Amino acid sequence: MIDAPSDPSWLPIPRVAVAQLASGILEYAQQTASGDAFRLPYPANLQLALDRLTLLAWHQGAPAPASVVELLQLAQEPFSDWKIDLTGTDVDPDEALLIYGRPTAACEELGSLRGDVEGEIRENALLRAVMDKSRAHNAPQSYIAFRELLIRQPAIAAMELDARLADPDLALLADEVRQAYVEAPPEAMADGVIRTCGGCSGLRLPLDDDRTWVCEDETCPAPGTTGTDHPASEGVWWLRRELRTFITAPGRAELRIADAIGKLGVSVALWPDFDACDIAVFAERPWVADIKAWRNPVRLARRLRERLFTVSPEAERAYVVIGQEQVKAHPRYVARLRKACPQVRPGQRIVAVSEAEFIGAVKRRVEAEA
Ligand SMILES: [Zn+2]
Repeated sequence: MIDAPSDPSWLPIPRVAVAQLASGILEYAQQTASGDAFRLPYPANLQLALDRLTLLAWHQGAPAPASVVELLQLAQEPFSDWKIDLTGTDVDPDEALLIYGRPTAACEELGSLRGDVEGEIRENALLRAVMDKSRAHNAPQSYIAFRELLIRQPAIAAMELDARLADPDLALLADEVRQAYVEAPPEAMADGVIRTCGGCSGLRLPLDDDRTWVCEDETCPAPGTTGTDHPASEGVWWLRRELRTFITAPGRAELRIADAIGKLGVSVALWPDFDACDIAVFAERPWVADIKAWRNPVRLARRLRERLFTVSPEAERAYVVIGQEQVKAHPRYVARLRKACPQVRPGQRIVAVSEAEFIGAVKRRVEAEA
């Protein structure tokens, strides 16, 4: 029997090529969003991704994108429509990298190669500064107030932000809060107002027809709802994109779960000990959990295989909790996650469960102890 010929060594790995494309798109979006007219050359990652995907296409006998412009067009198509075989890449067929010309959550998860809050906090200079300052002042409540503000107010009127910064907990981090926001982009403005979304309090932006206004947050719980219209002349701030992705989107699940558990009348702490985990429930024999809002279970599994959170010895149970939006979008999410990451199967120190399962388990313990 003859061995199947192995891939030549010069052949790029599809997963790396797609990650590079996603990174390039994120850099490109950052440049175009900063308001400066975009200038060539394109980000190096886009050019490198084009080279790698061209090699792959050539090797597979598939048509290759002829230019970066064509590559960006391809990035708008779901992966199932790609002619280049991307086997081994952690993507779902219905995912695309760009929607309405903006990077998708899938693009964020692929391009940053972390896509999780802990990674972002460690590596994002602003979030690290917030953490260091809160710690130095022994002010966990400032840290919590900062996280809550970013989750509840991805867009905020200038006057309202000033008022919030008068709160003593936030005042400590006033410089960092201001750095977290940028001015709402010009395209968010029409008829003298800036529109927000009732579902997530973020901005609604116009589609190409300039009449349809859509929430730009793919994970918004109620994207069709109309929120407050702010007079543009009074100024509106918008949370920086990476913070919206890594703090706001997963944070909604964190706050919702904490609220639901708080109603059961038990002790619940968000981001205890400066973010040792996302949530700790019960004062004695605590249960701790990390709450994950990754769109794709296979990408999350890869992340968890690389690094699981550290569980303190006094914790009775530890969970990775998948937000209800993700479970709804992917009915077999938890099963796929456990299959791809044996470290979070039942019987392990940390078990992956859905949001509903987690709250249900807490409820059963509350009832048993009553
Ligand atoms: Zn929304």
